[in-house]
Amino acid sequence: MIAKFKPTWMVDTVYNISPTQLKEHGIKAVLSDLDNTLIAWNNPNGTPELRKWMADLHQAGIPLIVVSNNSAKRVSKAVRNLNLPFVSRSLKPLSFGITTARKRLGLKKSEVVMVGDQLMTDMLAANTAGVRSILVKPLINTDKWDTQINRFFEKFVMKDLQKKYPNMKWQEDLND
Ligand SMILES: [Mg+2]
Repeated sequence: MIAKFKPTWMVDTVYNISPTQLKEHGIKAVLSDLDNTLIAWNNPNGTPELRKWMADLHQAGIPLIVVSNNSAKRVSKAVRNLNLPFVSRSLKPLSFGITTARKRLGLKKSEVVMVGDQLMTDMLAANTAGVRSILVKPLINTDKWDTQINRFFEKFVMKDLQKKYPNMKWQEDLND
């Protein structure tokens, strides 16, 4: 059961996920959570590092699609300045949003990766959808109330994961 929450990789931030390493692992597209993974609520324009990372992915021909549980209205407003395609109301931890985004790209399960900051939504959804995943640290520590509840339970899930998988650790990058 606990295995359903296990990320394939744990990397400090999305900026450390390099196109070269993605390609080495056969990954052709990145699906990503929005809130606290790509942008913080207090900086909807994204950091210069995010823009640099997006440009690097683009240059490498690796599409980036936002997979968010928020409404289309909220997501389109949030990504307007970033000019990113998205799937809204993705129903994470169900597989719906991830599978929709993957099929839109015409890729196999082994060819996409899901990035997110939450075990109980993003990582569970990735495992349910049968795709690899990257857990990143949340950009900021203040969350909406529903996320705060998840974070509370997440601590126990993380503890169980680390007990079962002692080798699980935060990595500098995918090959660390
Ligand atoms: Mg998030």
